[in-house]
Order: sequence, then structure tokens, then C-alpha cells
Amino acid sequence: MSYYSPSIEKLIESFEHLPSIGHKTAARLAFYILNASEEETNEFIKSIENAKKNLKYCSKCYNISDTDPCNICSNVKRDQNTICVVEDVRDIIAIEKTHEFKGVYHVLHGSISPMNGIGPNDIKIKELLARINENTKEIIIATNPRVEGEATAMYISKLLKPLGVTVTRIAHGIPIGGDLEYTDEVTLSKALEGRREI
Ligand code: ZN
Repeated sequence: MSYYSPSIEKLIESFEHLPSIGHKTAARLAFYILNASEEETNEFIKSIENAKKNLKYCSKCYNISDTDPCNICSNVKRDQNTICVVEDVRDIIAIEKTHEFKGVYHVLHGSISPMNGIGPNDIKIKELLARINENTKEIIIATNPRVEGEATAMYISKLLKPLGVTVTRIAHGIPIGGDLEYTDEVTLSKALEGRREI
């Protein structure tokens, strides 16, 4: 049985749906919102609405962006023929912070995971293949160094090798089981430097 009124209970429940938010934190956030000024609350609601309304996927790389193509794909200074393949949009930010990479990206939006019922058709692999042409110089696979990330890397490599494209994998400067998103710039920079063909 809940001791809260239905409206508060509903708000707590909404926060609980967010990743890494448990019941206690959800309650704390709900009460923070309840005590916040109307101005602050409206600002918060508006920023969620704007993000949902304005953000779209880049039709080239599947990055989340206000514009299509995104600012990386439309940057003429970036090498459009070197494509770094990542699992998540947040991995782009992690790699951009190293200032080491001057190519473009391709976001898979996940990794192959038979355990979770995610197959090659559930992530943006077809879309990656469609981008490859005779000018493509290199595909750098920067999936996370976990079982799923490795399996995805191997799968993509096997598909691309017959097309005569150079496929490289970032080196394991990143701890096994880690997240690209949480890796420091130096480690990630070294990992990019030490990438190897697979
Ligand atoms: Zn893009």
C-alpha cells in the first residue's frame, strides 16, 4: 500500500522508469519537482518537449541531431571515407573529446546479443553497408570491448572484408567490460591509435 497521494505516486513512478533510478532517488526527484518554482518546472518540461520534438536521427550516420545531416556529416573538413562504427550516440561524444578522429561515424544503436534476442537486423548494419562505396578507405570498429561488442565487430568485419574495405578494430586500451562513454580521453586516444585490422 502506498502512503503517497496518487499524483505523487505517479510522478515517482515516472522517475523510476529512468535508467539507474531506484525508488528512493525517484521519490527524492519527485519531491524536488513538487517544491520547485513554477518557472523552473516549466523550463524543465519545455526542455524535454523541445528535445523530443527537434531531435532526429541523421539519415547518414544515425547520430541524434537537431539537423539532418548532423553537424559531423555536414562538416567538409571531416574525412567522409573513414567511418568509425559505434554502438551508441554517447560513444561519439567520448571519441570527439579525444580530438584524434577526423572521419565520420556510424551509430549501430546497439550490439548483436543473441541472449537478449538482438540480431544483426535489429541494429543499423544494413545502413552501414549501404554507405560503403569505392571511395571508402577504412571502417574503424569501436564497439564496446564486451562479448556483444566483439561479436558485432567480427560480424561486421566478415561482411565487409569481401568488399575489399580495410576494417580495423580499436585496441583494448579500454578495460574489458567497460563503457566507451566512461573512458577517459587518454585511454580512448591510445585505443584509437593502436587500432588493428581484423
Ligand atoms: Zn551524421
